[in-house]
Amino acid sequence: MAIVYLKKRISARVLNGHPWIFHNEIENTDDDIPGGGIVDVCTHDKKFVGRGYFNPVSRIPVRLLSRDKSEEINDVFFLKRINRCWEYRKKLGYVENCRLVFGEADSLPQLIIDKFNDHFVIQTLALGIDVWKPSIVKALDSVFNPKGIYERNDVPVRELEGLSQKKGFLSHPFNTQIIIQENGLQFNVDLENGQKTGYFLDQQDNRRHIKNIVQGAEVLGAFCYTGTFEIHAAHFGAKSVLGIDISENAVLQAEKNAELNGVQNKCHFEVANAFDVLKQWSKEGRQYDVVMLDPPAFTKSRDTIQKAITGYKEINLRGMKLLRPGGFLVTSSCTNLVDPELFLNIIDMAAKDARKKIRQVTFQTQSADHPVIRGIESTRYLKFLVAEVS
Ligand code: SAH
Repeated sequence: MAIVYLKKRISARVLNGHPWIFHNEIENTDDDIPGGGIVDVCTHDKKFVGRGYFNPVSRIPVRLLSRDKSEEINDVFFLKRINRCWEYRKKLGYVENCRLVFGEADSLPQLIIDKFNDHFVIQTLALGIDVWKPSIVKALDSVFNPKGIYERNDVPVRELEGLSQKKGFLSHPFNTQIIIQENGLQFNVDLENGQKTGYFLDQQDNRRHIKNIVQGAEVLGAFCYTGTFEIHAAHFGAKSVLGIDISENAVLQAEKNAELNGVQNKCHFEVANAFDVLKQWSKEGRQYDVVMLDPPAFTKSRDTIQKAITGYKEINLRGMKLLRPGGFLVTSSCTNLVDPELFLNIIDMAAKDARKKIRQVTFQTQSADHPVIRGIESTRYLKFLVAEVS
């Protein structure tokens, strides 16, 4: 087994369970370790730390898969891990749709697997996990006997690992337009051309949190994608719902989804840039009882964090101005670098500028099939706030 030695002063982060080893933490490595190969990581005095995969071109040359010296990385390893992930999700009640594997939080760094009932979507975001795709597919076949497996590796982050972007079938070809059930509703999911893996499972628990506040309400949902929150709102008893998204395709899907659930008379969807129309509509004096905001990540880099803060402040301020007194703001952020405290501070700043008072109803993270591991910051990325605004 090839060995990577850590520097004498290694960060507590690694010893406390974080799976990433950065370049500057490595003292030296055996020669000629192939990219994507398995390595043992040892302290400078040769104590075993863990076993992981190696990529010399990555900013993070090693990501650990195991802390158990006797555990070999092979087909059996992936089968066992995927079984463990499934047992955990089932225990939490996710029997149909779930993020089956959430990378670092499941000790399978950079591997994402979303389960949409009998269909699976995979992302392998680092070279060292990409090479194990055949074993991962084999494990899925053996545990689930799936109707289809699709690869959504059309993500720029792969290029940092020297990998190309691609998408396609990992099983026999199948119809990638599927219908899933969530909270008793039905949604079309486009596994091939939808955003990310096709559907945002990370909000599946949070969608239930709007149940009471939307009763009889006039609801505006910005960044609606395929209308999941909006259709929930209509189903839960909203009087009327307007959803907007910049993507024409998303709006078409949202309309289809409204029809699928028989709420097309209450739900209306428009293609619009939320930054423009929220401002315009508040100037025009439009008012809603509930405003929902679920924008995409505003930055992935610390260099542009200020831009993200400004963006969140802007849309939340606009959202608050569109609310009738005593209305509810349902606001999300999936920018990893904006931690929960910072997000709440941004909301406070927006409220101050909008001259509004806010009262927190609930503050959540992503749904429980995306576990949060303390000490691995990237596992806690979603912020979801419901607040009364007056
Ligand atoms: N609420 C959705 C997920 C939203 S994802 C769900 O739970 O399924 C973010 C959405 O914001 C994407 O659909 C994207 O097309 C849209 N978007 C990005 N920039 C936008 C903008 N400036 N105005 C409106 N929508 C935008």
